[in-house]
Order: sequence, then C-alpha cells, then structure tokens
Amino acid sequence: MRLILLGAPGSGKGTQADILKEKYEMEKLSTGDLLRNEVKARSDLGLNAQSYMDKGALVPDKIMIGILEKKVAQFEASGIGYILDGFPRTEPQAEALLAMLENYNAPLTAALYIEVADNVLIKRLSSRWTCKACLAIYNYPEGLPAGEKCTACGGELYQRDDDKPETIKYRLQVYQEKTAPLIQFFQNKKLLLSVNGCGEVEEVAKRIIEILPG
Ligand SMILES: [Zn+2]
Repeated sequence: MRLILLGAPGSGKGTQADILKEKYEMEKLSTGDLLRNEVKARSDLGLNAQSYMDKGALVPDKIMIGILEKKVAQFEASGIGYILDGFPRTEPQAEALLAMLENYNAPLTAALYIEVADNVLIKRLSSRWTCKACLAIYNYPEGLPAGEKCTACGGELYQRDDDKPETIKYRLQVYQEKTAPLIQFFQNKKLLLSVNGCGEVEEVAKRIIEILPG
C-alpha cells in the first residue's frame, strides 16, 4: 500500500498516519525528516539542499523529489508499504511523484484527505494556552476556565499569537488555497479518498480503514 495523507493543520493527520503505520506495518515518510537525514549524512542531495537552506530559501522541488526517490527505491526493493506525510505540497510535486511511482511500476493506492470543518479546526487549534512564567502548555478544548492558573507554578496563562483564533483562521485559509488544486488533481486521477475527520481519533481511524482497499 502506498498512501498520501492530506489534511489541514489540526485535522489529526499525523495521529492517523501513526495508526495506519501500525495497523498495516507501513513506514511513514515525512519529507522534513528525510531532508534532515540527508543533510546530516552530508550526501550530495543533502549538501545541495543545505546550500538553499543556508540562504533561507525553499529547497527546490527537484532536490526534494530526488531525496524522496532514494527512499522510495529502498522501500520498493524491500516490498514495504509507505505513507507520505507533507508531500506532495504542489501539483508539480504530485505529477513528479506519480511519474516516479510509474517508473517503479508501483501505483499509488490513494490520496487520503481527512476533511474537518474550519470551525472544528479553529476550536481544536485554539485550545492551547501557555504559562507566562514557566512556559508549560495546557489544552482547554472548551475554552480557558475563569481564574485558571498554571498548576505547576501558579503563573498566568496566555495564548501565543500562533494559537489565537484570528491567526489560525489565516493559516487555514492559506492551507485551503494551496491544497485545493492538489485535491482536484487527485480527484481527476480518481485517486482521492475523502474521509470525515470529525469526532474521536478511533472513530476517524475506523472510517479510514473501512474505505481503504484491501
Ligand atoms: Zn507555570
């Protein structure tokens, strides 16, 4: 099985990837980790990527695809399934990935899209509060109770800008704009599987397993 996972921040994509990994004995490939490993190993691709990162520039698609291809080759040789998390991010990356898989005669099983309504995402993502004094992090899915203090040090709790609903709304908007063409792309290729990502982790996992082939 070869899967791509798509989902907004807060969709629970990472958690579901871990569950699928366990259930189907697959590997999870996060491009961030792959990139860091190549840089650490000082491979040609890694050094090349590093030269962009040093300039604060995005690592070009060509290098990211090269790094991914190395790993895909390993997995295809060993026959193990894999889940891609964080790749592809753009349509050209998606095209390159499908072309790569075709070379290995290894069709993509599905692009799994975990759909969660914006208001639910905002609620999930804005539940995080930080202690001003000791930086401990707390989650209040139902909002911060009145008069609540840090249980570790009694410090005042506040919301970092990143965790504020306004910032989250903007992040989600950016995500949707970037991802919409990708969703359409996989839909056109008849590779998209959408699943409702609202509810408990186990419920969502069950829905996913039900729609996956095999
Ligand atoms: Zn504290």
